[in-house]
Amino acid sequence: MAGGFPACASWLELSAPALRHNVEVFRALEAAAGTGPRRSMGAVLKGNAYGHGFRELLPLVHPLVDILYLINPQDGLAVRAYEREHGLAPRQVLVIGAIGPDEAVALAREGVDAVVADLSWREAGAVLRAARLERPLRVHVHVDTGLGREGFTLEQIPRDTGFLAEARDVFELVGVLSHFSNTEDVTEQEYALAQLEAFETGLGRLVAQLSPAHSPQRHIAASAASLVLPRARYEALRVGISLYGLWPSTETRLSARLVLGEVPSLRPVLSWRCRSQVVKWLPAGSYVGYGCTYRCSEPTRIAVLPVGYFDGYPRLVSGKAHVLVNGRRCPVLGRVMMNHLIVDVTRATADERPVTATLLGHDGDETVSAEALAGWAQTIHYELVTRLGAHLRRVVVD
Ligand SMILES: *Cc1c(COP(=O)(O)O)cnc(C)c1O
Repeated sequence: MAGGFPACASWLELSAPALRHNVEVFRALEAAAGTGPRRSMGAVLKGNAYGHGFRELLPLVHPLVDILYLINPQDGLAVRAYEREHGLAPRQVLVIGAIGPDEAVALAREGVDAVVADLSWREAGAVLRAARLERPLRVHVHVDTGLGREGFTLEQIPRDTGFLAEARDVFELVGVLSHFSNTEDVTEQEYALAQLEAFETGLGRLVAQLSPAHSPQRHIAASAASLVLPRARYEALRVGISLYGLWPSTETRLSARLVLGEVPSLRPVLSWRCRSQVVKWLPAGSYVGYGCTYRCSEPTRIAVLPVGYFDGYPRLVSGKAHVLVNGRRCPVLGRVMMNHLIVDVTRATADERPVTATLLGHDGDETVSAEALAGWAQTIHYELVTRLGAHLRRVVVD
């Protein structure tokens, strides 16, 4: 195997066609909405591109979307470096996470947009001015409309946002954003509608206070709202989980049927596979794994897989999950270990030659979805995928 990866290790497959398809689903929402200004399609690449691998995903996503949303300033600068290296026209890049004053200077120089979400930005003004920038930092003001996370509450606007008006030489208001609290948890959007009202109020106050040269780009819709709350689409979508082909929740899927009249097909981008390390028979009565939690009631052909909780395969799925081998479900026996898990391949293979196991994805007619694996681990698929080891090899497949 190429690239200095151990021969016996698991890998992630990233489907380029699935990614293109998912972007098309969101572009089609825009088309269905009819006329009006073109809406920007934004891809959220935080959390190592939801565990898919920022480095591997960037070349695939860059040509498909209009905006790249990142959590770290470093990733914003990495996009600019990538564009320069490949002679690509710069995309709109937006850092939605915390930014220190020195990082703000670097972003301004690279034409990366920053989100101003709290009063710590007052100090950044002086640092930006001292840096004698050729152009101001492009900023989007985050309005906390009811998530209680980052952003200025309505109580703070315009009281606490005046510093932006006093520092127009270094801050250029180009956008206003917010983030929903529970669009994916419910099928009625009462709270989201209240958040939308608050968003428009905050927006109105900011525009009155800062009188920007152009109307600010408004963006509030993550995957769920993009799909099921047309009013929230405004000028830009910030699509995370569904870009990777995963539904935010069952509720969102139900709402999509009601709102859109059909459930768009999303295609998971990621599969997780490995080759077995050992395949062998254990006699009846044998124990499997730490703690002797599983005992074979009959002779059992096991496969030892070189995957464990270090790689992001949750220990909590011990005794609950299955993997796929030759299109058959193979139960995980006993406890998931740091670098190993053991599965029953008695009926999935005919001999002791190595097998390929699918931990996530399709094999034949069977599928292990991120939702299923997350469910066995008593968590959500967002956490499951973002915890896939950064060390895993990621290969793009067509
Ligand atoms: C994570 C995040 C998103 C994307 O959310 P998805 O549900 O994954 O689409 C959008 N906006 C902000 C501010 C976020 O933190």
